[in-house]
Amino acid sequence: GPDSVRAMTDCLFCKIVSGDVPAEIVRESDRALAFRDINPQAPTHVLVIPREHHPNVGELAAADPGLLAEVLREANQVAVDEGVAGEGFRVVFNTGPRAGQTVFHVHAHVIGGRDLNWPPG
Ligand code: 5GP
Ligand code: ZN
Repeated sequence: GPDSVRAMTDCLFCKIVSGDVPAEIVRESDRALAFRDINPQAPTHVLVIPREHHPNVGELAAADPGLLAEVLREANQVAVDEGVAGEGFRVVFNTGPRAGQTVFHVHAHVIGGRDLNWPPG
């Protein structure tokens, strides 16, 4: 429908899914994609997204909980692959402008490889 057409043309991460914008892809599954953040905040900083456009984690959870589960399984496997699963890592969904969400195609940040403070700043 018109929403998905708008997403495909305007959304940066839809363009990574389609290959129109290059990315350093680290994992691919049927319905999800993992690639390195262009501005990494830790030695491991990978973004995991559903191939399908959903604006944020709440909307994805409501529309397709199985797809959210796949994003989380892929996020965990990224941590395993990167060698940070044992020592500890973080999975973050920034949601909305005040939380710093800048790309409105849902993405899990997988962050690790250094000490992570709590609460975050
Ligand atoms: P947000 O701030 O929405 O939670 O996260 C968006 C993330 O996307 C940021 O960490 C930012 O560095 C990353 N990012 C923005 N543009 C690109 C890009 O073109 N390629 C990649 N790989 N990451 C990007
Ligand atoms: Zn998108």
